[in-house]
Amino acid sequence: ARSFSGKRVALFGLGGSGIATALALIEGGAEVLAWDDNPQSVANANSHSIATGDLRSAEWQGFSSFVLSPGVPLTHPKPHWAVELARGAGVEVIGDIELFSRERSRQAPDAPFIAITGTNGKSTTTALTAHILKSAGRDTQMGGNIGRAVMTLDPPEPDRHYVVESSSYQIDLGPSINPTAGILLNLTPDHLERHGTMQHYVSIKERLVSGSETAIIGVDDVYCAQIADRLERVGKDVVRISKRLPLTDGYFADGADIMEAKDGRYSRIAFLEGIGSLRGQHNAQNALAAVAACVRVGLELGEIQSGLESFPGLAHRMEQVARKGHVLFVNDSKATNADAAAPALSSFPRIYWIAGGLAKEGGIEPLRSFFPRVAKAYLIGEAAPAFSATLGEAVPYEISGTLAAAVEHAARDAALDDAGEAVVLLSPACASFDQYKNFEIRGEAFRQAVNAIEGIRPIGG
Ligand code: ADP
Repeated sequence: ARSFSGKRVALFGLGGSGIATALALIEGGAEVLAWDDNPQSVANANSHSIATGDLRSAEWQGFSSFVLSPGVPLTHPKPHWAVELARGAGVEVIGDIELFSRERSRQAPDAPFIAITGTNGKSTTTALTAHILKSAGRDTQMGGNIGRAVMTLDPPEPDRHYVVESSSYQIDLGPSINPTAGILLNLTPDHLERHGTMQHYVSIKERLVSGSETAIIGVDDVYCAQIADRLERVGKDVVRISKRLPLTDGYFADGADIMEAKDGRYSRIAFLEGIGSLRGQHNAQNALAAVAACVRVGLELGEIQSGLESFPGLAHRMEQVARKGHVLFVNDSKATNADAAAPALSSFPRIYWIAGGLAKEGGIEPLRSFFPRVAKAYLIGEAAPAFSATLGEAVPYEISGTLAAAVEHAARDAALDDAGEAVVLLSPACASFDQYKNFEIRGEAFRQAVNAIEGIRPIGG
């Protein structure tokens, strides 16, 4: 990170991504003083020759910047004390995407940079966009929230493409993030616990697109629609996308077709028909955003279509795991609350639903409108009694207890269903912690149980 050559930089948060960020700064000639409240992380940093010291007693006036590492918000309540010390001394507080943006501006300002934010669909859109670019043969680096910390990506070069999932937190710490195309998918009142008011949350997300050369905005919710109007009024290049409205200009979905609108004239530029990994209306929004971004950086329609078709999907998000006869097995373990389970429940007409775990407030009551699609529910974990009370007379259910039993029973019942395609769906609407360490391990347990079924045909890798 040469932008910081010769400067003194304070850094808080020494998990894997914090260490990588510190090393990138040091390599670029910065003098870094790093800290973490966890002594083990400090020792680990020292073993990488990163200088550490308690920032509570540091000489703050000497720092040019204070970097909060990307891992911090997950493991610490925001380290208010350090932020206050920095601000008190007039030291800017920034995140790693800000570091990356400055580095790109300095080394290769034309390197295509696509940044993605929104309440839902960020990871899917990020992975899909990167996949399309890669499969078209573009040099592509993907990172941010979705995986690799941005400072560990290969350094900016003119033809290197960056696709970066950006959380509110990182945007908030990135005053000069300046993507070629910024994508704002949607905004729903979520995550308010961290950001205070909806207004504040909206204004942070807006900053990503207002700083972009082209702002790609999903206009299906009122917050985003207003942002699009606002940015257009000040002369920004705005590209609207909608999963349901025919737009005059922009991209919209007409069933499974992706349409481009120019001055009220439409043409079909891509289609999603038959692409299992992009099933469901919510994925139409994600695909529209990816298509708009790929068009913006100069991909041809044929390249985009073949990228869409070969997209394997993300693990644990409505992931098609296997098939046996007319039964499809779908892993949606990432759905850790009712809102997140809604897209999967709305995407299939006949569902053998495995739900439960550690319940969130409100349980499955918000999913009631989907109950007619559920042939039977298989309840697991601590939430089973509460969920069974909500299902009541509306849906047949059993308390399966474990995931293994639920898979076995659901597979048996679905095999006997003669009403067309039946889906055995793990979409728990619950956290996993009562039975599994995280949603990934729960999803893998589902996959294993499914793949153990006699005569099963696994899908994909
Ligand atoms: P994020 O990275 O924003 O958490 P993901 O791409 O990981 O989003 O998707 C998580 C879940 O959110 C999916 O399993 C699906 O249920 C839901 N989802 C995905 N895309 C959208 C969207 N565009 N709108 C609403 N919900 C979505």
